[in-house]
Amino acid sequence: MPAPALTGFVPANLDATRWPMIEPLVRALLERPVSSGGDLERWLHDRSELDAACSEARADLYIAMTCKTDDQGASGAWTRYIQQTDPELKPAAFELDKRQAALGGEHPLDRDRYAVIERDTVADVELFRQENVPLETELAKLDQEYDAVAGAMTVEFDGKERTLPEMARFTEETDRGVRERAWRAVAARRLLDRDSIDGVFDKMIALRAQVAVNAGFGDYVGYAYRAKHRFDYGPAQCEAFHDAIERAVVPLVRTIDAQRAGALGVGALRPWDLGVDVKGRAPLRPFAGGAELFEKTRRVFDRVDPELGSMFATLGAGGQLDLDSRKGKAPGGYQYMRDRSRKPFIFMNAAGLHGDVRTMVHEAGHAFHSLLCEDEPLLHYRHSPIEFAEVASMTMELLTMPEWDEYYPDQADADRARRDQLEGVVLLLPWIATIDAFQHWLYRNPGHSREQRTAHWGALMERFGRGVSWEGLEQERAALWQRQGHLFGSPFYYVEYGIAQLGALQLWLMSLERGRPAAIEAYKRALSLGGSRPLPELFGAAGIEFDFSASIVERLMGAVGSALDGLPG
Ligand SMILES: [Zn+2]
Repeated sequence: MPAPALTGFVPANLDATRWPMIEPLVRALLERPVSSGGDLERWLHDRSELDAACSEARADLYIAMTCKTDDQGASGAWTRYIQQTDPELKPAAFELDKRQAALGGEHPLDRDRYAVIERDTVADVELFRQENVPLETELAKLDQEYDAVAGAMTVEFDGKERTLPEMARFTEETDRGVRERAWRAVAARRLLDRDSIDGVFDKMIALRAQVAVNAGFGDYVGYAYRAKHRFDYGPAQCEAFHDAIERAVVPLVRTIDAQRAGALGVGALRPWDLGVDVKGRAPLRPFAGGAELFEKTRRVFDRVDPELGSMFATLGAGGQLDLDSRKGKAPGGYQYMRDRSRKPFIFMNAAGLHGDVRTMVHEAGHAFHSLLCEDEPLLHYRHSPIEFAEVASMTMELLTMPEWDEYYPDQADADRARRDQLEGVVLLLPWIATIDAFQHWLYRNPGHSREQRTAHWGALMERFGRGVSWEGLEQERAALWQRQGHLFGSPFYYVEYGIAQLGALQLWLMSLERGRPAAIEAYKRALSLGGSRPLPELFGAAGIEFDFSASIVERLMGAVGSALDGLPG
């Protein structure tokens, strides 16, 4: 692949982990005379190069730290960066944004090329209020408080103290009595902190209402949409999406749940019946070890598309994967694009489970996105909004399904994994609608009481909830929203996954109707645009609609329902 063109503004050996090295370059950008459109374009590209160098320095430190949390050098370097460099970068970026927005006004550039970056920068500058800085700090502290309360929860179970993530495995236990005891132990523990979490949340709602008013908005809903750069859809579209999910997805969920109750031989499903395999089978074992996961996945992508296959192979050859779970590694999985060298990195904790296969192909989709737009000179355009970035990853979960025999030579195992995938898509959408509708209500009614909040949550659970009996568990159900960390730390961030899923499902449907090569071609065409176009155009480039109304949701759920009917139960 050709080496990306550089402007030469940032020295190749710049140590962008340290502010004293970065500061002179920031100052140069702030002070450099810009007297024409050409000057401004050069300025934008130089800034982009500096941003890429800073982003890569951060990425390298983060990757090193998460791969070896027990390495003092790596964790110390990360902490030093967060304490010393990061706090300097944010105000510097804002000063640069201000200058960029002002220069854009003085020297109008080609709209077609620069409209997206301009609109994002102008929105950030317009939203900023000095008096909101201490409120944001206060909100970050409250989020830490929530994390501390939630993270400190443990239960005594079967004679051992266990964290709540550790308790998750009991949801798959085939003995219903064990599942119920485990579920009740966790729920009872959560109820002990219900009031203190409500207290944290009350303060957050009030602070966010103030942030919005300070910035000239009537409520936090309008502020949040602007802050999240939602220029192409508004609350009305999200509300239509909720209605569509209620009409077209909830009935499918209730059908899946009724089948589950039948298979388990229980009269009514209870909350502890949702994780267990209905046939009591042992977990799927698709691979042993990261090297095998890589090799099988390479073959999967080769069969899906030779170009994607060779991209995936280069990741393995370039030391850009760390897949195996081991002691001292941080939890979770991610794809991190190193923005200067333009080399993506995939981090995972593979333990031989089907969930690892899903994570592998998902994160590979993000890496394909990074690689397909790597020649774009502007960093801002080498990343796309989440609503589309997740189309890149979720589509790979769906379009690789026909090749899953690489992981599962036994047809029954492969079909079980496919059913799991499609059911997972259906089951997540109503939860997304629940959380999103809840947030719209919370911030439209910032003066609500805790009783009103509980009542509204209950109504949403009726509207979107699973086919489960909560009899005798009313308190537990009322506190369920407190498990969703996004509500605390990342308000309004969640519906993006639902929007992206509709995009991924449309590409999957295209592959069924017009053949997978057509869908892959459209996928690659759209990914190569990075984030250089508005969302409707990114979707359009993939031959799919940026639309989350009832007609499209109904069409997609019809297709998923038929696919599920074609798979053994
Ligand atoms: Zn993702």
